[in-house]
Amino acid sequence: RSKRRGRGQVTVYSQEIAQEMKRSTQLEQALRNAIIADEVDVHFQPIVDLKTDMVVGFEALARWCDPDLGYVSPAAFVPLAEERGFIDSLSETLLHKAAEAALSWPKELFLSFNLSSAQLTDPNTSANVLSIIARAGLDPRRLELEITETAVMMDADIAKKIIAELRLAGVRVSLDDFGTGQSSLGRLREFSFDKVKVDRAFVSQISTDRACEHIVKAIVAMCDGLHLEVVAEGIEHFPEALKLKALGCGMGQGYFYGKPADAITTMRYLAEKYQPGIPAAIAV
Ligand code: C2E
Ligand code: MG
Ligand code: MG
Ligand code: MG
Repeated sequence: RSKRRGRGQVTVYSQEIAQEMKRSTQLEQALRNAIIADEVDVHFQPIVDLKTDMVVGFEALARWCDPDLGYVSPAAFVPLAEERGFIDSLSETLLHKAAEAALSWPKELFLSFNLSSAQLTDPNTSANVLSIIARAGLDPRRLELEITETAVMMDADIAKKIIAELRLAGVRVSLDDFGTGQSSLGRLREFSFDKVKVDRAFVSQISTDRACEHIVKAIVAMCDGLHLEVVAEGIEHFPEALKLKALGCGMGQGYFYGKPADAITTMRYLAEKYQPGIPAAIAV
């Protein structure tokens, strides 16, 4: 009902905005309902030791398939939950499920869980995380939390405090998507991380693009010096795995080693294929 109805462009534009708002409100409502109905699931992708090809842990990844909307990517619904102020309840549900699943795994395997940016500006986050895993019965030393640089920079002081509290409790903290976004090497000094996850952007082209190879080589050398572990994300093919092994990259993750799979599939895989000391990093 724009006053400027005569101006086609303005009307079209406001209609688009109205439609987009309607869509995201529908999405929000569907997501809120899905959380209540326990329909948001968590899948697990193996992380392997590139020296031995053994599975060492799993990253939890949120999965949601709405009956009407179909599959919605976590890259879309996690930011929506943050924006609309219910990331805490979403994250709590996911972490609880992930921790319960991890209880059925061999004890030497870790669970890696993504924290959202909004959670890193909330001083209650460390206490919340620790109480959720305590309730599930998961040892904090088996938990790893993945955070991004964008997230730590939103409120550096609070982020530092959260990281320190979690690490004091034995939780490890990794820097996700390293090398993209607002990367700064100084961040590795300023914040205390245990691990760096090299972004897929470098890994996917490592066997064909010399520049990517040099960048990853430098990241590995730097992390060695800083006593940080390194995980290469997004290994899709054997040549990439080979190259990363040759560069001395400690850990890897990607479709080549295994796609994210649900809790039951993951448990079955571990029961049938996993034995400590034996390489079993075959696609799940
Ligand atoms: P991320 O934490 O960097 O997760 C890695 C993403 O790469 C996942 O996408 C994973 O499925 C995908 N991936 C893994 N291996 C390969 C590969 O070999 N090739 C390709 N092309 N992709 C690969 P996904 O599951 O769609 O998640 C996207 C992002 O959404 C995640 O990026 C993370 O930032 C966020 N996210 C997912 N689950 C959660 C969650 O439970 N909580 C929060 N806060 N964020 C989450
Ligand atoms: Mg991650
Ligand atoms: Mg990542
Ligand atoms: Mg990512």
